[in-house]
Amino acid sequence: MSKTKDNKMEKIVSLCKRRGFIFPSSEIYGGFASCYDYGPLGVELKNNVKKAWWKTMVQENSDVVGLDSSILMHPKIWEASGHIEGFTDPLVDCKSCKRRFRADHLLEGRGIKPDLEVQREAPLDLTTIKCPECGGELTAPRTFNLLMKTYIGPVEDESALAYLRGETCQGIYVNFPNVLESQRLKLPFGIAQIGKAFRNEITPGNFTFRTREFEQMEMQWFCKPETAAKYFEDWRARRMNWYLKLGVDKDALRWREHAAGERAFYAKAAWDIEMKFPFGDGEWKEVAGVHNRGDWDLSRHSKFSGADLSVRDEVTKEKFIPYIVETSDGADRATLAFLVNAYEEVETRSGDDEAKHETEVVLRLHKDLAPIKAAVLPLSKKEPLSAQARAVFDRLKTRWQCQYDETGSIGKRYRRQDEIGTPYCITVDFETGTDQAVTVRDRDTMQQDRIKVAELSAYLTEKLAA
Ligand code: ATP
Repeated sequence: MSKTKDNKMEKIVSLCKRRGFIFPSSEIYGGFASCYDYGPLGVELKNNVKKAWWKTMVQENSDVVGLDSSILMHPKIWEASGHIEGFTDPLVDCKSCKRRFRADHLLEGRGIKPDLEVQREAPLDLTTIKCPECGGELTAPRTFNLLMKTYIGPVEDESALAYLRGETCQGIYVNFPNVLESQRLKLPFGIAQIGKAFRNEITPGNFTFRTREFEQMEMQWFCKPETAAKYFEDWRARRMNWYLKLGVDKDALRWREHAAGERAFYAKAAWDIEMKFPFGDGEWKEVAGVHNRGDWDLSRHSKFSGADLSVRDEVTKEKFIPYIVETSDGADRATLAFLVNAYEEVETRSGDDEAKHETEVVLRLHKDLAPIKAAVLPLSKKEPLSAQARAVFDRLKTRWQCQYDETGSIGKRYRRQDEIGTPYCITVDFETGTDQAVTVRDRDTMQQDRIKVAELSAYLTEKLAA
């Protein structure tokens, strides 16, 4: 474990708290384990991540439509999906320090790709692994169901039992016939959804990387069985491009194919997009997955609900159950990935002294993701600059999320905006009244352009789209 990596993560967590991106939940009550709240800047950033995903997946694809299904669903759905039986993580406890670990994570840490089915039966590899914290002996793995339970109505008995959804895709599968008919769609087509999912994770942690309540961004592509392999490759390329287009460094991402024992038995293919995060072992970790799920989901829901979820081939007239290619991203995990990737420390000169340097943080977030697109900074709090700056702000705020900041030196204000990733700072100065122009500073190039106030919206529109 590298100290620098841990330091970077500590700095990001501290920045998130200090600048209002992400707060620990229920903090005045001492916090609530692994739950987080998105603050004023965090909610903008996460909304932008979701907006960017929706735009690429729904808006820009005439054959993908959206959905917002409920979190609470018929409990039988989770029987059909296999979650009640099989949505389990193998756990081991340390007999000495009593800490709990996920057996698959311990094996992965040793470079062993775990075959979980085999591990549950005969945990051979684990007998050689000791507690990573104290070196103590570990118990045999036990499984633990991750679905969160609740009760519907006043009586808390078996008949009232329901589950908070463990993944958003099940809401898509059960709406397949509704969407197909109401939208007059033909295969192939996709249904996309963003929403909360809940998992009683045994070992949550690493900030928002693994939490018990999180948001997923999933798209299920319904197609003819013989075309699924081709679409799988197609969606794989598109999902990777999304992260690259939004500024994640090419070398920071990689593909990993699931090992045979790791993959669900029905899955025809499963690959993850992985990124290196600066915590834990600093190794590659999953950001998103693309899976060829075959006809498993619709077959199971046909069987458990009794509804016929097959479609008829237009040419051969034969009925078949569509195959599903799934793309599955986490909104919170993607947001964290973008934050980690954007975080940069630069050395700047401190004041007039050539020799004095200080470290400044710049969040080089993609412009589409930046929580604040432009900050309006009057050089003086007094009239007439204040009225001129307010007029500029009022003009821009109808188009973009902007900030107005008049406190502190201009250098400090630039640094505050750099730290939250604002792409453009607009300075209203003593010349503005005369030339009807402002100075626009670019976060990344530091270039300053003098722009007429009347042309500012057009200038920013072009710059923010670039
Ligand atoms: P992991 O191996 O990390 O537990 P998974 O393979 O169970 O993840 P999926 O079920 O494929 O994950 O979920 C798809 C995406 O949802 C993941 O790639 C991740 O971005 C996000 N995700 C899953 N579990 C969590 C969690 N506990 N907290 C935050 N995001 C999560």
